[in-house]
Amino acid sequence: MKTLDLVIPCYNEADNIVPFYEEASRAAAAMADCRVSYIFVNDGSSDGTQAQIRALAALHPEVHYISFSRNFGKEAAMYAGLLHSSGDLVAVMDADLQHPPALLPAMAAGIEEGYDCCAARRLDREGEGWLRRSLSSLYYRISNSLTDIRLEQNAVDFRMMTRQMVNAVLKLSESERFSKGIFAWVGFETKWIPYENIERQAGKSKWSLRSLARYALDGITSFSVKPLRAVRNMGILLCAGSLIYILAVLIKVLIRGVDVPGYTSTLCVLLFLGGVLELSMGIVGEYVAQIYIEAKDRPLFLIKETDIPREDDPS
Ligand code: UDP
Ligand code: MG
Repeated sequence: MKTLDLVIPCYNEADNIVPFYEEASRAAAAMADCRVSYIFVNDGSSDGTQAQIRALAALHPEVHYISFSRNFGKEAAMYAGLLHSSGDLVAVMDADLQHPPALLPAMAAGIEEGYDCCAARRLDREGEGWLRRSLSSLYYRISNSLTDIRLEQNAVDFRMMTRQMVNAVLKLSESERFSKGIFAWVGFETKWIPYENIERQAGKSKWSLRSLARYALDGITSFSVKPLRAVRNMGILLCAGSLIYILAVLIKVLIRGVDVPGYTSTLCVLLFLGGVLELSMGIVGEYVAQIYIEAKDRPLFLIKETDIPREDDPS
């Protein structure tokens, strides 16, 4: 019999914990050859999430939990869950029932077929505005052309992996985590399972357009240095262009003498170069920031309370 650990990051999901458990345990019952355990990761919730999880764990021996000292973000919560998992198979999924537990048997069957990973992909993006939908599709195009990894459009962070793949994911212990990229980077064979998008069961989404944009940018800078190369190429082009222009101006001065008017062209060149320099510094700065964050090598999360002891816990 195989063991399957469900890793569930929870941030202010008090009203979802019990409904999630009920639905997931129905799916677990449908998998006769799998013993399912739960690892709820309470990511510093400020509502009653931890109390709900603790109560559930007291009732059911297969329920375990990790509770952070503060909110470290979903990426850190997923990492902590994977780090504390021990199952032959591990699935990460949201607590708000937007990732239907009913897909779990199909995912386990996919792995039985020989895949290393079974991941869910939304069929539609209904419930999202036009702007968000087009920005998202533009992002995937840009990201896939800038990075060597291929991000699957409409993929969500709901996937079941073999122990081998989980161990590979855990080897990437960077602090600026971009899981979608990490899952793609480690490789292995993924089976995609499409499903209809579902509205969140209770509570509200923690993503704003701004935090999504931040996450999206991190995704590119974590997996590609092409923007840096673009800055270098832009510099080469500008230098070459400037040299030609300088030569042309010098020759003109030599032939026709000093030409005083030229306010507009000077201003245009000045403003343009200022803009290019500022942009280049910004791009380089993004990478310097990443080096800074990684160099500090802080723990990705701190645990306040857990019932899964590990010797090498960072806390
Ligand atoms: N989450 C988390 N820490 C955070 C934000 C979110 O652990 O700082 C969890 C959240 O509880 C949920 C999952 O990540 O289980 C997805 O969050 P959300 O539903 O807000 O994202 P969306 O479904 O809107 O993409
Ligand atoms: Mg959600």
